[in-house]
Amino acid sequence: MQTRTLGRTGIEVSAISLGTEYLINLPQEHVDGVIHYAIEKGINYFDLFYGLPDFRDILGRSFRGYRDRVHLTAHLGAIVENGQYGLSRDPQLALQYFEDYLRRYHTDYVDVLFLHNSDGQQDYDTLMAPGGLLELAQRLQREGKARAIGFSGHTASTARQAAESGAIDVVMFPINLAANAVPGKRELFQACAAHDVALVAMKPFAGGKLLQAESRMALEIYQSGGDPMELEKRGAVTPVQCLHYVLSQVGVSTVVPGCKSIAELDQALAYWEADDAARDFSELLVAFAQYETGACVYCNHCLPCPSVIDIGQVNRLLDMATTELTPALRAAYAALPASGADCIQCGACEARCPFGVAVIDRMEQAAALFA
Ligand code: SF4
Ligand code: SF4
Repeated sequence: MQTRTLGRTGIEVSAISLGTEYLINLPQEHVDGVIHYAIEKGINYFDLFYGLPDFRDILGRSFRGYRDRVHLTAHLGAIVENGQYGLSRDPQLALQYFEDYLRRYHTDYVDVLFLHNSDGQQDYDTLMAPGGLLELAQRLQREGKARAIGFSGHTASTARQAAESGAIDVVMFPINLAANAVPGKRELFQACAAHDVALVAMKPFAGGKLLQAESRMALEIYQSGGDPMELEKRGAVTPVQCLHYVLSQVGVSTVVPGCKSIAELDQALAYWEADDAARDFSELLVAFAQYETGACVYCNHCLPCPSVIDIGQVNRLLDMATTELTPALRAAYAALPASGADCIQCGACEARCPFGVAVIDRMEQAAALFA
């Protein structure tokens, strides 16, 4: 299992992690089997947002004896209403659910405490205002009950504000092939990179819709304003392709696919054994017609380069440095075996890039910026 650093928290997390929502309503032995298998395979980050007491009890038993090997998240504002998932902005209620979480998971702290599922400016303002959930999270952090504070949501504009606020260490956001062209996404990623805020990618399979066999399907994706827009899927996609897209994006620390069985977990973990051809998503993204012409998606479909430049990585570092050129980005660029300055302008990559990226110009820009 490859690990990545969770932004400025410094926590090392497995690049592929586990979302637990699909384990709901399954028996203890089954949940134990999936959780223990995941840990055995090197997964060390688990997203736990459901507040249902029975489900917490089952997962709490599964994690017993493993707490020092795993990073667990909690979500302030996720509650239970009429026996189902619900959302609240009441700090008192959120605190009750958090204390219940600590009891049922047999722990006295969480690794990342998320402000849960915020979409739209009004809700963001409520969360961040004095007396809101951010203030509660900061108090819990001071008390040693939370190592880091996160923000989860589907709206790029408010997720970006969270990343720029200085108060948020981790942003959890839907990242998948179908949502490649969501307005504001690129700026969000750049803001996270500039502030060393980790990105946790949720919904890598778009809620499973990307994996379904239907050749045409509407996907509901949130735009920066929170309104849904319809996209079309025009072909079958594999979990490996989905994960490769997500793990190739700027600033992603970990991806949390929801898997309800060991078989599904194995389909995700097959990523590590897959070759470049099996991972390649570039033609698929073009088929979705949901990409911005000229914007690199870091797929490396344009290789090989005679100067052995890792074109996707140079473009990724250039995009990250556009907002702020940090020492870490400088060091990552300096460590590349070949850089933008090595480009001999042969044009082979531009002929192969399905996305119309002006690679030669980009290599020149990188050489100038990182000089
Ligand atoms: S330049 Fe094109 S082919 Fe190369 S990594 Fe970027 S998007 Fe992919
Ligand atoms: S144009 Fe530059 S980056 Fe592209 S393949 Fe040729 S040498 Fe490599």
